[in-house]
Amino acid sequence: MRVFCFDLDDTLISECEYVESGLRAVGRALDELSRVGSGASGEWLVAEWRRARSRDLFQRRLAELGLDPAWLPRLLHEYRTHDPVIRLREGAHDVLRALSRRGDGLALISDGLLGPQQAKWRALRLDVPFHPVLFTDERGREFWKPHPWSFEIVMRSAPDATAFVYVADNEDKDFVAPNRLGWVTVQLRHAENLRPCRDVEGDARPRLKVDRFATLLEIE
Ligand SMILES: [Mg+2]
Repeated sequence: MRVFCFDLDDTLISECEYVESGLRAVGRALDELSRVGSGASGEWLVAEWRRARSRDLFQRRLAELGLDPAWLPRLLHEYRTHDPVIRLREGAHDVLRALSRRGDGLALISDGLLGPQQAKWRALRLDVPFHPVLFTDERGREFWKPHPWSFEIVMRSAPDATAFVYVADNEDKDFVAPNRLGWVTVQLRHAENLRPCRDVEGDARPRLKVDRFATLLEIE
């Protein structure tokens, strides 16, 4: 039995989809504050983000609506606490079910602020068993990848596993620890990732690079 451990953002889910879900939630809050037509601010935020990916969207929308810039913390809170409308990436569910059916274990290791990461995971309502599900932020910022803590927990939770595989996207931090621990590391490359994948050397380099979920079923 092998354990296939997954990253969440831009691996199982699209980070862009999450961002747009958050922008729409913030848009609803802005609509309430400004009493403009329902959906107007959400559509504006999403369109501007798609166009320019700018980081001052909330400030600009507040200004455009003539609202007090002091509302900004409320909007950020709305973004971080909203119930995300997101799905697994195409092809992911079939592969997760196939891995589970053939007897392999599934696990999750995800960085990011704890509340939003837990909300994303809940929103997926997965019907395949994952164990363990690890949000590194539960332990603290210094335990985020590339810290090996979460990978060691996964290894301890499956002492009989013949191999561990980590599937993720970010070569800056995702593959260092599992490479050092002897895992098979797989970079899942997707054209719509928030940060494009780069080629790197050394400990950070993924052992395999794939561009579709189904290829995971063929890993020897
Ligand atoms: Mg990621």
